[in-house]
Amino acid sequence: MSFENLGLSPKVLAAVKAAGYETPTPIQEQAIPFAVKGRDVLGIAQTGTGKTASFVLPMLTRLERGRARARMPRSLILEPTRELAAQVAQSFEAYGAQHNLTVALLIGGVSFVDQNRKLDRGADVLIATPGRLLDHFERGRLLLTGVEVLVVDEADRMLDMGFIPDIERIVKLTPFTRQTLFFSATMPPEIQRLTEAFLSNPERIEATPPSTTGENISQFMLFTPCDPKQKRAALRKAISGQDVTNGIIFCNRKRDVRVVQKSLRKHGFDSAELHGDLDQHVRLETLGGFRDGKVKLLVASDVAARGLDIPAVSHIFNYDVPFNAEDYVHRIGRTGRAGREGMAITLVTPQCRQLIGAVEQLTKQKFEWLGDAPDDADWEARPRGARDAGGRRADGAKRARPAGRGQPAQRAKQKSAPKPARAGKPAPGNAAPKKANARRSPCDSGKKSANNALGDNVPAFLRRPV
Ligand code: AMP
Repeated sequence: MSFENLGLSPKVLAAVKAAGYETPTPIQEQAIPFAVKGRDVLGIAQTGTGKTASFVLPMLTRLERGRARARMPRSLILEPTRELAAQVAQSFEAYGAQHNLTVALLIGGVSFVDQNRKLDRGADVLIATPGRLLDHFERGRLLLTGVEVLVVDEADRMLDMGFIPDIERIVKLTPFTRQTLFFSATMPPEIQRLTEAFLSNPERIEATPPSTTGENISQFMLFTPCDPKQKRAALRKAISGQDVTNGIIFCNRKRDVRVVQKSLRKHGFDSAELHGDLDQHVRLETLGGFRDGKVKLLVASDVAARGLDIPAVSHIFNYDVPFNAEDYVHRIGRTGRAGREGMAITLVTPQCRQLIGAVEQLTKQKFEWLGDAPDDADWEARPRGARDAGGRRADGAKRARPAGRGQPAQRAKQKSAPKPARAGKPAPGNAAPKKANARRSPCDSGKKSANNALGDNVPAFLRRPV
């Protein structure tokens, strides 16, 4: 199948050629013919599949006819984060180079003045995060009754970020006759409900099965102690043990993003941080630096990094196992994009057994360990707040007993294992005292341990696993 057979306009085909794309990706091949005809599309696709072009290209074709009116955008694209919105705006610039369309980007963290000016001039394409869009609407700066095409992108992320009520409100402000293109990497029940409410007889397209991780990404677990210092040392060792061109290090908490980044810098690693507390300009600048290869390692939180298109990331390091199993899929989807090889290494502390179980259950694979796989005695009580793919507590996750010490670890893939980089695992004889220490540290639970103030005099009932 070639781009010429998808029903795109000559101008769009020229832009595709200029971008150097030779053949459409599976999601483009399936979605574009329906989208150019004005049909609703429900696309289930993970990032890196060419999803953005699958809605931008048909939109450009459809918007070639007609003109924008002041404060009445003709199309609306909703994105969960500012970075994603900015990235989609860049795609419009690239693919729409030959079109004379006005694109307005409405994101938080930047001044309203320029955004108002663009709205007043009339926007063919409005790309927005839900909060800033509603701010403009409430100030009477825009009307959504002229929206011909609505795109809801990364819907499952919108759900995680609590945007669903905003999305429902925004969709009600658009005309019933609109075309809706709806994308989500996964399809939890809440998102299923939305698709039923928003879409009319949609063409359902599944580019990859939901919640799978790329075949071209080698994935490894690394058992590490809970102690933050040892964990950071393990991370450094893991990075140094690999041939890292550039990599993203994901932390569950913003606080840790900063600490890990500072520590990496102190130890001579070229790194920068990306999280939601940073000023928008700093975030975009950092991202630009990483994309251009000026920064080698990006330490990031999930929210800041979700869906970012950085074409050539060689490694992903999960400093923490994500609380939400689906975030694992999104994190490692930052590497191995557009068919490249990638590697993901996840640091797993003794409290993370259920979290890893939830990830294995979701991705339907058993992971290979760098170094020895932990045995039953190495694990501790599950962290609070662990959730499985459906948002349920993950403590019910059933999992085969992990391979014991000295036995071969379960293989996720039969690829050649990289250099073992396991760091700091307690020696068998020392296991018990180390665990007692680990139990007192906050580790991955995200909660300060109630035992902290009691030193070694912890009553037995407090030591019982929750
Ligand atoms: P996305 O999933 O939209 O974030 O796209 C992932 C990457 O694939 C981006 O860097 C695109 O430029 C690239 N891409 C999109 N479509 C194609 C295509 N048909 N051929 C080659 N690369 C593509």
